[in-house]
Formats: sequence, structure tokens, C-alpha cells
Amino acid sequence: MSQGVAVLGCTGSIGESTLNVLARHPDRFNAVALTAFSSEDDLTAKAAASGAKFVGLVEGSAQWEAGGNGSVERSVGAKCLEEAATHPDVDIVVNAVVGAAGLRSTLAALHAGKRVALANKETLVMAGDLVDSAAKAGGGELVPVDSEHSGVLQCLNGKNPQDISRLILTASGGPFRTWNKDDVYNATVEQALDHPTWQMGRKITVDSASLVNKALEVIEAHFLFGLPYESIEVVVHPQSIIHAFAEFVDGSILAQMGYPSMELPILYSLTYPHRIEDSGVVRFDPATAGDLTFEAVRHDTFPAFELGIAAGKTGGTAPAVFNAANEVGVQAFLDGKIRFGKIAEVIRTSLEKHDVTEAIDLEVVLAADSWARRAAEEACS
Ligand code: NAD
Ligand code: MG
Repeated sequence: MSQGVAVLGCTGSIGESTLNVLARHPDRFNAVALTAFSSEDDLTAKAAASGAKFVGLVEGSAQWEAGGNGSVERSVGAKCLEEAATHPDVDIVVNAVVGAAGLRSTLAALHAGKRVALANKETLVMAGDLVDSAAKAGGGELVPVDSEHSGVLQCLNGKNPQDISRLILTASGGPFRTWNKDDVYNATVEQALDHPTWQMGRKITVDSASLVNKALEVIEAHFLFGLPYESIEVVVHPQSIIHAFAEFVDGSILAQMGYPSMELPILYSLTYPHRIEDSGVVRFDPATAGDLTFEAVRHDTFPAFELGIAAGKTGGTAPAVFNAANEVGVQAFLDGKIRFGKIAEVIRTSLEKHDVTEAIDLEVVLAADSWARRAAEEACS
């Protein structure tokens, strides 16, 4: 039976990869609902190519909204994300929106009992406990798209949770892996966007350069797999072939590997716990892969990493503040307003000023997010 899929953020890097995967498996999956931020023409073309019957634009014109026809429903405004996520013909919601904007749709989809294939890690970081409660209340299911977490899931599938002793996520190290501290601080936008192994959207590419992405991923792993922070480690692995390791109580370690492409983890998030063949995945060849190397994270050069781990350990509203301050800092950096190294300072200042409370409901989390955005804007200027 074919499963209906919503792709939130279908015009982005993960969104487009998802549409590629869906197009290769028309007998198993059909794109039902697509959303994008503001690119009307791109979204309209993707809807026509995929046969989606619902399309939503966060920022679209009334003229575009009225231009739908009997077979395609159009919706404009932030509400379109939740409409797509809860569409009755949708079984799986691929949340490929970037940033905090993806939170409500993740919660809505889980409340509606859907599977959420989650690329949008920021929302799990902001509100991990709320996401968990929404899944429990609505019967929805969260499956990671992030390659490291997909790797962990694949290593742990079928294993006894009590046997797991440690997770190790790999980090490519980004474009500044070997740079000295001062050069990293003063790096340009062009340099930060020049990622050595992964092709991704601008925000996550900057996060990879600062290692904020890896801190977000440690928090994401904590919520997804229920392990304490002390049992989740990070190692730099410049080739991005091994995505994650899972260690068991007897010391045995499993690793998940493959060339760096998001299409395999996307496919697995759709078919989990099963696997299907996919002509789009390039098969790994150990004989030609070259050396696989590992090194420690350089905390001194990438201070935002430790700030994120500390925020995760503090819990409550701290991770939401870490995330929001980073989003503001990254945008200011991309807009040429602050230096690269200032992003970590903006995060630190915002976290230091914040009075952490328990993240008991969505209002508290969103209030912390708004507060942090103001604090971070101030720290940027
Ligand atoms: P991207 O910038 O390429 O795409 C973002 C998508 O979200 C676009 O379709 C855009 O139209 C939409 N969008 C942007 N702002 C929005 C808003 N305010 N409201 C609604 N929609 C909005 O980003 P990406 O690289 O595809 O990353 C998407 C998410 O996936 C991020 O959370 C990222 O951390 C995560 N992720 C990405 C990769 C990757 O390889 N690109 C890997 C792992 C995880
Ligand atoms: Mg990742």
C-alpha cells in the first residue's frame, strides 16, 4: 500500500533530496502535501512534478493562493505547515524546515498520530520533552533523518536498550578543522559556507563550521535515544564515512557507514524498521575509500560546542535559548553584521543572562525562544 508523505521545506536541501527519494519509489510513497517559505514558482513546479494535492507557502501572495485549481489546494501563512502535517492523506511527515519555525508542525503531526521523519533537529533541541509527550499523547512516532542519528538507530535496531553503554557521533570538523583560533574567529561567510564533505542549506553549513551543529546533535541524540549526556560523545572524522558508533556494555562497538549522502538516511526514515533497495544510493567501496581517521574536538577553537552541551545538561529552557541565540547569530553573520567568532559570544551572553525555568509547555518554550532572540540581537549590535 502506498503511503502519503508531506514534505515541509520541500525547496531546501533535505526537501529536494526527499522528493528525489520519493520519485524513485512511486509504488510505495506518494507526495501528498508540500510546503516552502516563499518561492512560489519552485513550489508550484515541485507540486506539478510530484502530483501533490496540497501546497503551502509561509509567505505567499493572495494571488498565488487563489491560483489553485480543483485538484491542488493552496494555503498561505505559517498555518500551512500544520495543515500539511495533519492532512488526512498523510502518513509520514518529513520535517525539513530549518530552525525553530518547524516546532508547531512537528508537535501537530505527532498529536495526529503521524510518523515524523525529523530533519529539523532545532525543534527537538528546543522542546525535546514536549515532542516526546506529543508522540505519546497522539500515538505519533519520531524517526531521525539526521545521518548520525539514523546511524545510531540502525546500530541499535533490535538491540536490548539495557545493553547500550555509549553513543559516539562523528563530526566532519567542517571547513575550519585545521585552522588556528584567530583565523576561525575572523573567517568570512564564503569560507564558512565551503563545507568539505556535505552539501547542505546555509544555516546548517555555518553550524557545521562552528560545531554548533554537533552540539545540537548531542542534544537531539539525548532526546531520541534517552541516554544521559555523559554517555554521548563526539569524535571528529574528516571523511564523513562513519556516521555513528554504538557501544555495548561488553565493550563491543557497531558503526554505521556509507558515503556522505542524505538520501540513504531519508529513505531509512521512511521505511524504518524495514529496508528496500534504492538505485540512487552509491555503494560503498572500502578498497577505494582511503584512510578513515579520527581526532578529538578542539574545544578552545570551537567554544560554541561546549556551550551547547552545557545548555543540554542544564535542560529546561536552556537548550531553546542556545538554539535561538545561535539562529540570530548565524543570520547576523550571514548578513555581514558580525564576525564568525562572535556567534559563540552571542550564544554565551544570551545563556548567561537567561533565568532557566522548566520547559513545561509550548508557551514557556516559545517565550524563552523570543526572549533569547531579543538578547542575541542586543549582543550582536
Ligand atoms: P535549507 O535552507 O536548504 O531548506 C530549508 C527549507 O525550509 C526550505 O524549503 C525553506 O523554504 C523552508 N523554510 C525556511 N524558513 C522557513 C520558515 N520560517 N517557515 C517555514 N519554512 C521555512 O535547509 P536544509 O539544509 O535542507 O536543512 C533543513 C533542516 O534539516 C535543518 O533543520 C537542518 O539542520 C536539518 N538537516 C539538514 C541536513 C542537510 O544535509 N542539509 C542534514 C541533517 C539535518
Ligand atoms: Mg548530522
